[in-house]
Amino acid sequence: VNETKTALVTGANKGIGFAIAQGLGAIGFTVAVGARDDVRREEAVEKLRAAGVEAFGVALDVTSDESAAAAAATIERASGRLDVLVNNAGIGGPTDGDVQDPTKLDLGVVRAVLDTNVFGAVRVTNAVLPLLRRADSPRIVTMSSNMGSLALRTGPIMAAYAPSKSMLNSITVQYARRLADTNVIVNACCPGYVATDFTGFASPRTPEQGAAIAIRLATLPDDGPRGGFFDDEGVVAW
Ligand code: NDP
Repeated sequence: VNETKTALVTGANKGIGFAIAQGLGAIGFTVAVGARDDVRREEAVEKLRAAGVEAFGVALDVTSDESAAAAAATIERASGRLDVLVNNAGIGGPTDGDVQDPTKLDLGVVRAVLDTNVFGAVRVTNAVLPLLRRADSPRIVTMSSNMGSLALRTGPIMAAYAPSKSMLNSITVQYARRLADTNVIVNACCPGYVATDFTGFASPRTPEQGAAIAIRLATLPDDGPRGGFFDDEGVVAW
């Protein structure tokens, strides 16, 4: 029996996902480093191990059903258990020209962004849910954005990305309701505006700061909140 809790972080090779992996590793989790690119994944695993984290790589492209199924099998084989899933992988989609102007919206871009940000989270969640259900205190965290908040209407107009996070929030609530009478606790979070490739590093906020809320939701006590949307300050308006 493997005594160490295992956490899968998707898109863990860089940015906020890497910081979540490092943070969970630092508090004793074995980290399954989900990443689609072999080289970037192995580099991340090596960096985490050098920092003293117990980590193994999981080939995972969240846009592929087969990849998600194979990832679940890899985790079963390598660790035999899964306690935490952080659905972090996400894309903004191209922003050049008018492609995310709603009045000129490129629906191909919408489809691609949904496929990663929303369907990706569903694929991975459903692939690993049988493993999570075997854990004592399983947690699912979805990395959303306040740009998905219908109440706040924040950030630039991005008619593929922002609705993708609104839908991700909505699906998170559907999971939380469906799993309400189980020990699987599901919540969404916003990391704040963080310096990563995603934002062109146009923020003083570090990936570690962005990772903190996800780590908190990944380690909620058994009576913790379910089906909520949180950032460092507390509840985020839907
Ligand atoms: P990065 O671009 O730095 O990292 C994104 C990660 O997702 C990378 O590891 C990337 O892998 C991975 N990824 C993208 N597509 C796929 C895929 N199909 N399969 C597997 N992995 C994939 O972005 P951030 O760290 O900033 O963003 C992480 C999450 O946080 C995203 O969901 C984003 O929407 C959210 N967020 C970020 C904010 C910010 O200010 N940075 C604000 C609000 C939310 P690869 O290296 O192979 O491309």
